[in-house]
Amino acid sequence: MKFAYRDDQLLVRDTIRAFVRSRIVPNADRWNEAGKFPMELLPELAALGLTGLAVPQEYGGAGLDAVTIAMLMEEFGAGDGSIGLTIAAHNSLCIGHLLIAASDEQKERWLPPLARGEYLGCWALTEPASGSDALNAQSRGRRDGDGYVIDGTKQFITNASVAGFAVVMAGAGERKLTAFGVMRGTPGFAAGKPEEKMGLHASDTAPLLLQGCRVPERDRIGRDGEAFDDVKKVLDRGRIGIGALAIGLGRASLEVAIRYAKERTQFGRAIAEFQMIQWKLARARTELDAARLLVHRAAALADAGRPFTDAASKAKLFASQAGTRAADASLQVLGGYGYLRDFPVERHLRDVRLMEIGEGTSEVQRIVIARDLLRAS
Ligand SMILES: Cc1cc2nc3c(=O)[nH]c(=O)nc-3n(C[C@H](O)[C@H](O)[C@H](O)COP(=O)(O)OP(=O)(O)OC[C@H]3O[C@@H](n4cnc5c(N)ncnc54)[C@H](O)[C@@H]3O)c2cc1C
Repeated sequence: MKFAYRDDQLLVRDTIRAFVRSRIVPNADRWNEAGKFPMELLPELAALGLTGLAVPQEYGGAGLDAVTIAMLMEEFGAGDGSIGLTIAAHNSLCIGHLLIAASDEQKERWLPPLARGEYLGCWALTEPASGSDALNAQSRGRRDGDGYVIDGTKQFITNASVAGFAVVMAGAGERKLTAFGVMRGTPGFAAGKPEEKMGLHASDTAPLLLQGCRVPERDRIGRDGEAFDDVKKVLDRGRIGIGALAIGLGRASLEVAIRYAKERTQFGRAIAEFQMIQWKLARARTELDAARLLVHRAAALADAGRPFTDAASKAKLFASQAGTRAADASLQVLGGYGYLRDFPVERHLRDVRLMEIGEGTSEVQRIVIARDLLRAS
């Protein structure tokens, strides 16, 4: 896969980098203190095409390729993991599922308002009793007359209480899932109380409660009981974005550590002169660069229409751990000041930790990679 970036990719990245520096970074602490997604930001994200990243232009989106999207997600990670995760759930998961599995008629109905940022989307797979084992869903989408009735609880759903539209996976019995598009306001569809998390405080996470929620047949996405195949494809792409977010978060913390190490003096010299500090900085930078290569390789394979499941899992596994290690090492470089909220590094560390859990834990990524290895050899 080639890694000479096109001029248009670099231009988009630089535009978003400038936006993140001027609009996201200065407000990140305030938004995270407030503990909810800043809805006033949505029109600005939409104006920059960030609410329809991969949506084809015919549906009003930016029509960007996967490598460019990975570059943008890294920039958002470097600005505020919460805003990055909000964009990722809207684009990679909710819209991603529609791009993969929705009919042309559904795409015409649902994609333009999502791409215009009229409202956010969310994607609901996880349940209280089914996380890694998503096929163990206890929810049910039962046929009823000319449609379906959905009952159940979806757990940990990013954007659940701020979204206007949800892609909901409901159990269809015998370890099967059916996907539905559900608009906010549909009777029997409500978000529960937002969760209080370790980090990512400006990203909404809440349960979705479905009680006798009636959905017409035309809002079923894909075939009855066959949604898991689409779910796997959605997660393959989503994992590239999560890896990119982790790189951005690690990069941002490392930038703080490098500046700090040059300024802070102990024993009569800048701590940057100590070899043990240099070792931490060098390792973090090397791992983040390696992670970026893995993430962009997976994205380039996706853009080339080639298989990329195991490449996406390797990228997500390595990048999320490299991001966490970089943030942790950066915090250590700042000593006691790293532990204070005066510097953003403690937020980076709390935020990046989720990337080892969401969209498949590190353990699940290893299962995917090992399965591919054992099948191939
Ligand atoms: C902030 C946040 C946002 C999220 N956003 C969304 C969202 O938008 N939509 C959505 O659907 N979900 C979302 N999730 C859910 C997330 O994808 C799950 O938390 C994740 O998949 C793990 O599921 P679980 O938490 O139930 O853990 P479990 O599956 O119960 O796992 C517990 C532990 O057991 C390990 N484990 C499980 N199975 C195996 C195995 N076979 N071998 C070895 N180890 C194993 C896991 O790796 C983990 O360490 C979100 C979660 C969080 C915290």
